[in-house]
Amino acid sequence: MFTAMRAERMEGLHFFSDQATGLEAIVAIHNTRLGPALGGCRYLAYNSVDDAMADAMRLARGMSYKAALAGLDQGGGKAVILRQPHIADRAALFEAFGRCIESLRGGYITAMDSGTSSADMDCIAQQTAHVTSTTHAGDPSPHTALGVLAGIRSAVRARLGQESLDGVRVTLQGLGNVGYALAQLLQAEGAELLVADLDQGRVRLAEEELGAKPLAPDAVYEAPCDVFAPCGLGGVINQRSITRLRCAVVAGAANNQLVEPALGEQLRMREILYAPDYVINAGGLLHVALTHRGVAAGDIAGRIRNIGSRLDSIFEQSLAQGRSPAEVADRQAEQLLYDEDAL
Ligand code: NAD
Repeated sequence: MFTAMRAERMEGLHFFSDQATGLEAIVAIHNTRLGPALGGCRYLAYNSVDDAMADAMRLARGMSYKAALAGLDQGGGKAVILRQPHIADRAALFEAFGRCIESLRGGYITAMDSGTSSADMDCIAQQTAHVTSTTHAGDPSPHTALGVLAGIRSAVRARLGQESLDGVRVTLQGLGNVGYALAQLLQAEGAELLVADLDQGRVRLAEEELGAKPLAPDAVYEAPCDVFAPCGLGGVINQRSITRLRCAVVAGAANNQLVEPALGEQLRMREILYAPDYVINAGGLLHVALTHRGVAAGDIAGRIRNIGSRLDSIFEQSLAQGRSPAEVADRQAEQLLYDEDAL
């Protein structure tokens, strides 16, 4: 276990169990140099405790990088609750988890994630103040979309030398909570939209409301466009899909878009400008973290728009240093997380 922790540079790993509710949970705290660890709580079935632990550590590390480059005084953490086939009382389970978080005395702040809802966060909030994305805090998705819009503007400026998004052709993969909100923002800016979703109802809505052109889900990669915006699942850029891309920019909300780090450099070699996913999709995190601290909505919106400036600097460094934006982003984050001289 300590070998795995060392490999991820993990600060702490906490295991919790509660007999009364059947709770079995792991909290991974990756790095608290910039502030208390913040990250979602997953409620999923895992094949083994080792798998759950590895998932928590990998995701906690990702949160440290995301928070650092979002300019937050916040570290990275993640929780997983192991989903059992039967539980008697879901509310009691999450309340029990709330007591576990309280025992960490603010070192970890939890939030909604895969398999959990804002109603679950409300249960946690019965026991601890170290929880965000409750019903009261609202849905982060529109804020994520706002950040992605700022990022697309930055990428279009850097790659196409164009200030406005008027007439820019964007292929949107996924019209869920973030994708649809992004489609609305892009349409308002005069962008031309090509859209795909596994749910044809979402596609029809975008056609009717936004004048978007529909694409079959597998046609998104080959569609000639300026910007390809992955807003569905992660892992969409792989050795096969990268050869099919006919775009100048990849910039979207999905997490973990590159299946392997080397694809960042391959995109650069193909002259496709990639906006690193954890930088461009940090709007939701900013909303969640700053709302938790009581920051005013107008100030939060300003911080989300700053995602564009952060990407401007990443693209400039990428050009100057001949390294991919993905590599530049990782180095910038690692400097903030580990380099004594960076603060
Ligand atoms: P969502 O579940 O609301 O929407 C995802 C949509 O993508 C669904 O409509 C689904 O049908 C569609 N989809 C899935 N696979 C597809 C495919 N192969 N082709 C076309 N469409 C496909 O999720 P969301 O909240 O909108 O999040 C979208 C992505 O952004 C996810 O990867 C998520 O992890 C990431 N993200 C979301 C937030 C947020 O604030 N919600 C923040 C950061 C990152």
